[in-house]
Amino acid sequence: MFASPILTDAAGGAGPARAEAGSRHDAPAEHLLRLAESMFAHSGEGIIVTAADTRIIDVNPAFEAITGYSRAEACGRTPAMLNSGRQPPAFYAAMWAALLSDGFWQGDVWNRRRSGEPYVERLTIVRMDDAHGATLNYLGIFSDITTQTLQAEHLERIAHYDPLSGLPNRCLLTARLQHSMAQARRRGTSVAVVCLDCDDFRSVNDRHGHGVGDELLVALGARLKDTIRDCDTIGRLGGDEFFVVIDDLRDVSACLPLVRRLLDAVAEPLLVGPHRFRLTGSMGIALYPDGGDIDADQLIRRADQAMYSAKAQGKNRYVIFGHEALSCLPDEVVFFESVAHAIQHGEFELYYQPIVHLRTGELNSVEALIRWRHPRRGLLVPGEFLPRLEGHPLSASIDAWVLDEALRQHGRWLAEGIDVAISVNIGSEQLQQPGFVERLKALLEDTPSFKPGRLKFEVLETTALDDLARVSRTIEECGKLGVPFALDDFGTGYSSLMYLKQLPARRIKVDQGFVRDMLVDPEDLAILEAVLGMGAAFKREVVAEGVETLEHARMLVQMGCVLGQGYGIARPMPAGQLRQWSAQWTLPDLSAPSPETHCGGQ
Ligand code: C2E
Ligand code: MG
Ligand code: MG
Repeated sequence: MFASPILTDAAGGAGPARAEAGSRHDAPAEHLLRLAESMFAHSGEGIIVTAADTRIIDVNPAFEAITGYSRAEACGRTPAMLNSGRQPPAFYAAMWAALLSDGFWQGDVWNRRRSGEPYVERLTIVRMDDAHGATLNYLGIFSDITTQTLQAEHLERIAHYDPLSGLPNRCLLTARLQHSMAQARRRGTSVAVVCLDCDDFRSVNDRHGHGVGDELLVALGARLKDTIRDCDTIGRLGGDEFFVVIDDLRDVSACLPLVRRLLDAVAEPLLVGPHRFRLTGSMGIALYPDGGDIDADQLIRRADQAMYSAKAQGKNRYVIFGHEALSCLPDEVVFFESVAHAIQHGEFELYYQPIVHLRTGELNSVEALIRWRHPRRGLLVPGEFLPRLEGHPLSASIDAWVLDEALRQHGRWLAEGIDVAISVNIGSEQLQQPGFVERLKALLEDTPSFKPGRLKFEVLETTALDDLARVSRTIEECGKLGVPFALDDFGTGYSSLMYLKQLPARRIKVDQGFVRDMLVDPEDLAILEAVLGMGAAFKREVVAEGVETLEHARMLVQMGCVLGQGYGIARPMPAGQLRQWSAQWTLPDLSAPSPETHCGGQ
């Protein structure tokens, strides 16, 4: 149909000559030619014909109307004259690849009119070859779709963006969150949704009017957007409520620096015209995954719920969903952030304290005890930071690090020929987390050096174990994986007997308070005797903590307690010192009374 001379004039030159108007008795070929020419002249679509070297040899009137270039201006140049610079080079590379391989390309292109105004055209390009396959021409046919495109973009904006702040609305935020959640599942990472609601925003509207209130929200939205990372999304779901999706987190600890920055961003004064505003915000955080199967809408609702909890607890703070009992004021965030930083930058260490057989002196196991090598405050013992973390999901992050590190150390010791069981303290938070046993199983499978019994858990008898039946099942399942449990600080809780009866812990550790004072306090001695009696009755192994002197050890052996741990045997020490300690450790003769106060090596 387009086998017209205008297309085969590969020589180009001054452009093709238009065919003379035919007579009423045209031959069929001539008729077709005239038809093609008429279409060329009257088509509403722009048509551009180039030679094989892409020089333009003809354009039609619609081309002139759309681009603003006359035929004379266009001929002899290449279509690159219309380039708007909006498409990257890769776009044109793909276009040429298709033209060379298929002889055809179709797509939307942003170009520029003669006036400089950008426009978008829907373009089809066809390669015209001769009978031998040599390219003669390229034919481009395009229509101006600028109006439709802008309209579609406008509709897209209305559907997905908040008209006031220009930030994503609920629909887009939910879609992005769904994408982030799917990605987190694939990569084994976490996502946090933060719901931020300004405190007492109504008073801004009441005092200064809605116009100022709106401007303030726009300014705040822009500032929050500047605060987050490029990979995160901030949206406004209406009113003074903003949502942030924090993507690709290693665990909860990784989102705290951003939470802190968001709180700081809200607190920084904002100027609207002559007015200076100081706002505070309440934040709710929901984490994914957090046990159980939930979708993006539910996660947003959780963040919203946590935000209401932050409001109810006094505003200007954040609450993490599932941890509502612990609301964090901005000042506390600094502490949590420093802990998160410490986890990420390796500031935590494990010390190890031997537990020995009091009759033979044999090393039974070591207890891993966490230390924080604080850059400013020096070496901190757990009492200085763990209690402040209670109820915060960071405590589970720390427990997870301790477990990993203890298993790594076990492997390192094995490589050095030291085969010692390690006892790890575990918080109720982590113990009661869904999926705990599965994670432990996976971790042990990844630790080829692990042998049953080489890892033990200690759980505080005083920890709030909400669901004894479930914890009991967890302890049993861990036992099947070769990880027995000990009830730590036994005797200090209210329900020692019940715990002993219901929890299948293999070992009990008598609290050091009773042991330390057993020599001077008959009541403590009586408790100790009772605990030893219970241990025997329930067939549990008993370890005495707080063995500070030889006298303690001697008395314990007489009472039938054969495992001991305490400063009298050894203080907690860095892993590197265990070999030297065990080489020089000897159990003194406990049968004869001795004037010495300490047991041996230390
Ligand atoms: P715990 O599990 O009962 O650990 C024994 C604590 O008693 C240790 O204190 C140890 O240094 C101290 N101790 C040992 N022998 C003696 C002694 O003869 N006399 C006296 N006065 N104290 C002795 P530390 O290291 O300060 O740990 C305190 C508690 O912090 C631990 O009590 C444990 O409940 C908790 N903890 C320690 N490390 C971790 C950990 O990695 N994870 C968790 N969740 N808790 C930990
Ligand atoms: Mg312990
Ligand atoms: Mg203890």
